[in-house]
Amino acid sequence: MSYVTAVLPTDQPPLLHQAVDEAVRLLREGEVVALPTETVYGLAANALDAEAVAKIFEAKERPTFDPLIVHLASKEQIDLVADVPPEIALTLKKMVERFWPGPLTILLPKKPIVPDLVTAGLPTVAVRVSSNAIFRRIISDLGKPIAAPSANRFGSISPTSASAVLAELNGRIHLIVDAGACMFGLESTIIKIEPGSPKMFITIVRPGPITAEDLKVYGKVRYASRTVVDEASAAPGQLASHYAPKTPLRLLERPSDFIPEEGKRYALMSYRGEEKDGYLNLCEWEEVMMLSPGNGKLPEAAVRFFYVLRTLDMLGVDEIIAEPLHEHGMGVAMMDKLRRASGRHSS
Ligand code: AMP
Ligand code: MG
Repeated sequence: MSYVTAVLPTDQPPLLHQAVDEAVRLLREGEVVALPTETVYGLAANALDAEAVAKIFEAKERPTFDPLIVHLASKEQIDLVADVPPEIALTLKKMVERFWPGPLTILLPKKPIVPDLVTAGLPTVAVRVSSNAIFRRIISDLGKPIAAPSANRFGSISPTSASAVLAELNGRIHLIVDAGACMFGLESTIIKIEPGSPKMFITIVRPGPITAEDLKVYGKVRYASRTVVDEASAAPGQLASHYAPKTPLRLLERPSDFIPEEGKRYALMSYRGEEKDGYLNLCEWEEVMMLSPGNGKLPEAAVRFFYVLRTLDMLGVDEIIAEPLHEHGMGVAMMDKLRRASGRHSS
């Protein structure tokens, strides 16, 4: 597998049309292409073509027990790929009206038209409508839903820019459509809706930009078990090693937990770069990068999160130390990812 990977810009009208047409042409031929979404860049293929979908797994070196999200052009396409249970239909309708297009993925019983490879043989399919207009336009021009996981090698850091996709998949795919930095920078929230009385049950399978607070109007919200060992069951793909840099990463719950070792080089992923938080002066950091300089805003931290991880990972330090973030709103998803990333090297 060795291709010349083209990166096509979209920031002028004729270029945008060319990029969209080229992406649609390749998708029609059963190829995979990297596309921007509002969360992270995705590696896309026609979701109804098992052979095309197989190329996603090949390019990413992703194990086939890890299912893919199916992206629709509009909410009207739900019925094409999923059987909506009547008991949840009204809640689903309300949630879709509120959150789509946007970063909310919903697990629903799958229709046979969706290849088993897409859902890793599971009876459910994960669906969403992205708010990225270029991505949606490509789906509607193609006329088929698109399966797209994040456009990185399996287990590595999700890409939030075209250059990050190139670093991951250069030579493995024909095309990257470049639409600049992703708006949210974190993968979509994944939920399951189950009937309950008097309230529906909403289970957050993967935390993301749509928070428990946002969802609680629609039912009783709970998090899926955080045990990361049973990846083949409720939350496949939520493996401990996900989102991990190659450099060992440690999430410091308290500054006093850190005792630097002689001769080791450390980099700090700081939340807001405030001295009063107690992390800046713990040692002679090789590098300090801040997620949200000064004010500690969680959505800003989310946009920079994977970029900062990726940059610190390139420094060749012995360890990346991460400050904790406030664990509410989008901080829940980032803390979840930091815990998974630090788990990778502690076992
Ligand atoms: P990615 O697109 O790389 O962010 O990963 C998609 C993730 O969505 C998978 O790793 C799973 O955690 C989740 N997912 C997709 N389809 C299903 C499904 N049918 N059932 C449960 N989880 C799913
Ligand atoms: Mg991923």
